[in-house]
Amino acid sequence: MPIKMPKKKITLAPIQKVLAKVRPVWIERVGMELARGMEVRAGFQEQLGRFFDLLDQSVTTGDPAWMDSILLDWAKSSTETDLEEGLYHVSFLLNRMIALTIQVVRDELPKQQALDFLAAVIPIYTYGLGVVARYEMETRVAHISNEMDKVQKQMERVDKSKSAFISVAAHELKTPITLIEGYSAMMEDLIRENKSASLGSLMGGMTTGIIRLRAIVDDMIDVSMIDNDLLRLNFQPMQINQMIEALYIEIENTLRVRKLTLDRIDFEGNKQWIYIDATRVQQALRNLINNAIKYTPDGGTITINGRTLPGFIEVTIADTGIGISTENQAVIFEKFGQLGRVELHSSGKTKFKGGGPGLGLPIARGILEAHGGSIWVESPGHDEIKCPGSTFHVLIPSRTESPDPKMAKLFDSLGKQKTKTLESDSLLSDENAGASSRIPES
Ligand code: ADP
Repeated sequence: MPIKMPKKKITLAPIQKVLAKVRPVWIERVGMELARGMEVRAGFQEQLGRFFDLLDQSVTTGDPAWMDSILLDWAKSSTETDLEEGLYHVSFLLNRMIALTIQVVRDELPKQQALDFLAAVIPIYTYGLGVVARYEMETRVAHISNEMDKVQKQMERVDKSKSAFISVAAHELKTPITLIEGYSAMMEDLIRENKSASLGSLMGGMTTGIIRLRAIVDDMIDVSMIDNDLLRLNFQPMQINQMIEALYIEIENTLRVRKLTLDRIDFEGNKQWIYIDATRVQQALRNLINNAIKYTPDGGTITINGRTLPGFIEVTIADTGIGISTENQAVIFEKFGQLGRVELHSSGKTKFKGGGPGLGLPIARGILEAHGGSIWVESPGHDEIKCPGSTFHVLIPSRTESPDPKMAKLFDSLGKQKTKTLESDSLLSDENAGASSRIPES
């Protein structure tokens, strides 16, 4: 029984035959050209079969909307990376498919059939391109607006931390400035009253204030250098225990005043010679030890321990202090991570819960990361009564050569000279056996 058809349907029966003839060749050719690898190709050919059937359906019914489902499925499979890289991947695929369809029908069909075939399928492809282009544009616009939202939020965060930083910096700087102001006013009075004999102790007070100011400004400069990737490291051979010893001498007095015990464990690797910027690594360790002092109540213990790991020496600084909550354990390494509460910052360097500008840990992290190392903290939580303590872990790469070629050459030749001396010494003394395999003390 003849079916009532819209205008172009006279060629329906032959077109269907042609479509059936073209189908296997088309799937094979398009699959070969557009999918790499056997497994990918098998899956893709299945998709192409579905595509061709829907193309057939669209030609038969004269309704290109049959294509919508597969086109949208394909378009939705674009990844986040495609969006970031601006790849229009289904539009590209469809364009390639149009070119390949033309090639296939040119090779497989007589001229007239080829023309009829193309006349039937090209409008459907064109429709498909429109659908995909619209979808891809909409997705991209949504992606961009999402990205802009993220940037906006980031900027708001930066803005907040900037103003938090300014308020803490101002607060921190105010204390030593007040100190200096007070002492200088007293000095003026003394000079006016001609009692200059007591000037000495007042000068001492002023110097303390100035030293504190300098330390704060130096920290600010360090943070800005780390932020801008300007921290230059000066690699030299050093042993961890030498740095710990030097730090112990610095804090000996504070430990006594605060009745704290510093337990230095003689761990494996602490006498190994490694190339580091000793001044900077010492600064990082100093910040951690000072924090351990600040956040541990009088009578507590600070333990420095460590071990060797493949390619690294791990140093741990554990205290019996107030501990750090899980949520704060990541935040404290961020710049100005703790800056929200200005009232907590009391500018004390070693006082219990003395506070500070909140730059010590970001600086320590910056220094260690610049070395290729890392830093993290473990703590059961924050409790000022039970004092669960915190353990800071520091990973220092155990380089046996300087990354700086000039220094490597210099120390290499120094090392050889010294090794020679040690070797000749060891001929005289058995105690030195094995010393030549290490970088000798300089
Ligand atoms: P600052 O001590 O100047 O505030 P830091 O960057 O050195 O800044 O430390 C950031 C914050 O991390 C401190 O304010 C404190 O809350 C927390 N913190 C650091 N070390 C310890 C520690 N050993 N025990 C408990 N809390 C610590």
